[in-house]
Amino acid sequence: MEHQEVKDLFTEYHDGDLSDEKKKELETHLQSCDECRTEWQAFEKTMNEISGLYHFAPPQDLAKNVEHKIHRRSRGKFFGKQKGNNIQFALISFILVLLFMLAYLMLTAVNEIIVLDDQAPDTAQPIDQ
Ligand SMILES: [Zn+2]
Repeated sequence: MEHQEVKDLFTEYHDGDLSDEKKKELETHLQSCDECRTEWQAFEKTMNEISGLYHFAPPQDLAKNVEHKIHRRSRGKFFGKQKGNNIQFALISFILVLLFMLAYLMLTAVNEIIVLDDQAPDTAQPIDQ
């Protein structure tokens, strides 16, 4: 097997795609040829480093750390304690409901005053100043 042929087969050899016959030829050449063996070792090292990138798992507490960092950087606006957020949310909802009820009552009261004015226009007296 020629040097160049061996080098051309590195990828297939690495992937395990070579036929048994080719694989044996290649391995025989690698054992006897320093040049190709050195190149093969460099190739394999590179391939392992590349595949290592894909197999790198993030630390288990990464999500927690990111949440913590955002919480700290946002001065507690985001990712605060879940319970506190729920209480805040409930409080805001309650205040909003109260405001809507108040607005509704005021609108109803205004309507009643207008109705009263329409029914008894004579009772309305101009205010002396
Ligand atoms: Zn060689």
